Amino acid sequence: MVSTQTGKNGTPIPRTKRGEGQWALGYTEPLNKNEQSKRDDNPLNVRDRILNIYSKRGFASIDPADLRGRFRWMGLYTQRAPGFDGGKTAMLEEEELDDEFFMMRVRSDGALLTPAKIRALGQVGERYARDTADVTDRENIQYHWIRIEDVPAIWELLDESGLDTMEACGDSPRAFLGSPVAGIAADEIIDGTSALEEIKRRYVGDPEYSNLPRKFKTALTGHPSHDTTPETNDVSFVGTVHPEHGPGFDLWVGGGLSTNPMLATKLGVWIPLEDVPDVWEGVIKIFRDYGYRRLRSRARLKFLVADWGRDVFREVLEKEYLERELVSLDSPEAPKRQADHIGVFDQNDGRKYVGVAPTVGRISGSTLTGLADVVERFGADGIRLTAYQKIVVIGVDADKVEDFTEAVEEIGLTPRPSNWRQNTMACTGIEYCKLAIVETKQRAKDLIGELEERIPELDVPITVNVNGCPNACARTQVADFGFKGQLVMDADGNQVEGFQVHLGGATGLDSNFGRKLRAHKVTSADLGDYVTNVVTSFLEDREDGEAFAD
Ligand code: SF4
Repeated sequence: MVSTQTGKNGTPIPRTKRGEGQWALGYTEPLNKNEQSKRDDNPLNVRDRILNIYSKRGFASIDPADLRGRFRWMGLYTQRAPGFDGGKTAMLEEEELDDEFFMMRVRSDGALLTPAKIRALGQVGERYARDTADVTDRENIQYHWIRIEDVPAIWELLDESGLDTMEACGDSPRAFLGSPVAGIAADEIIDGTSALEEIKRRYVGDPEYSNLPRKFKTALTGHPSHDTTPETNDVSFVGTVHPEHGPGFDLWVGGGLSTNPMLATKLGVWIPLEDVPDVWEGVIKIFRDYGYRRLRSRARLKFLVADWGRDVFREVLEKEYLERELVSLDSPEAPKRQADHIGVFDQNDGRKYVGVAPTVGRISGSTLTGLADVVERFGADGIRLTAYQKIVVIGVDADKVEDFTEAVEEIGLTPRPSNWRQNTMACTGIEYCKLAIVETKQRAKDLIGELEERIPELDVPITVNVNGCPNACARTQVADFGFKGQLVMDADGNQVEGFQVHLGGATGLDSNFGRKLRAHKVTSADLGDYVTNVVTSFLEDREDGEAFAD
């Protein structure tokens, strides 16, 4: 029998073997250096120091505790210094890999980016980031080569357009994933835009929620295709219809990948749109108060949810934080495949939305500026970013779609990509990320080129997620081919860049983690041959209607 202890209001909760640093149970002394740093000074205070001290005095003036800790709350990480290969990653302390340049993330939070916002994002890339810009699978725009001296000017430029980098990283409520087609899709269940806006307005940048045990990822979709990968977020709201009350959201908690992957637990409740911000606050409070702070490796919400289970989590949420009961309802049926919205689709107002694919999310400042021009020229409303490193253009007149397609293709984006370009993602990798063991973006780009030549026609989608280390930022475990970067032996016994293979992972109806095949380790150089061989065998041997994951 599991022994219990009582929570703040007397709710019985499972007892852990030892104190896990849970504030609500009295473990308030910082138990590791990250916790100590957050206790020493609220990370949000670093904003003033960046504006008033560091940007004026330069990189050398930055307090190391700010540089490697609190800067993240402002969306800033030092990028990897050039010249260190993957073998060095494990041997050096993180700070030894620091460059004097930063990676910066700008949140979109599922919101519509108007032409003015797209242009501002493009200008930041062109003026301050050596024309870099990536679309991340958290719906951020990510830059590289940022100098500390330029951060105030960048923030001013972004602020004029209503954009920000607040809590884009750090132990905080990070960027939200919203449905890219919220409010405009003809087949939408419910538009959750107002709820995400309200959560952001109330809670992002609030010191009450700026010291969490670790990162806290939010997703919300009212689209039946579950287009925000809700299984892999700490808290997800998923559109569903109650037979009496109408459209609302189910609540899923405790999803996350990385080294101990767990799919989110579905609470099976119905939450009306107007209650979403309060319920979100209840969940983040549980995480803040009961989350494990002793070990960083166990500090994500998923570990708490795994220990408590669905019923205890719901009871604590209802009794201690909401002080009312939630309405029960079976969780919504999952779609066979989560939509990435690539292609041309009907809106609810007679216009079209057009999902376009960059290659592995890599664009540039000038691509964004060019996109702002195209969006304006065609009178479209703007863009939204997707959880698949893609872009959806909203509000294209039906009779202009062909001309529009030609115009976006001229700037390197297309609504009709190959399977490989459409379904391949890659994380930042060794080019800029200090945790990386292998190169990812360029490797994945080359892989797409190889596969487009070797297997140009494919009648079933096959997904490829390329990751530079076990952290799974590009969702290693939920792709048909999930590649986790590590050093492997080549045929001559040399240690070279390569990948551990995870095969047959998925989100949606058949959501599961890909099988980690210990024998399947592939060198980076052999990646194209490996995927070609496996896919060719599948195509030759499959039965009618068999999907790759089957
Ligand atoms: Fe960096 Fe690893 Fe995340 Fe890739 S998966 S971005 S290498 S931390």
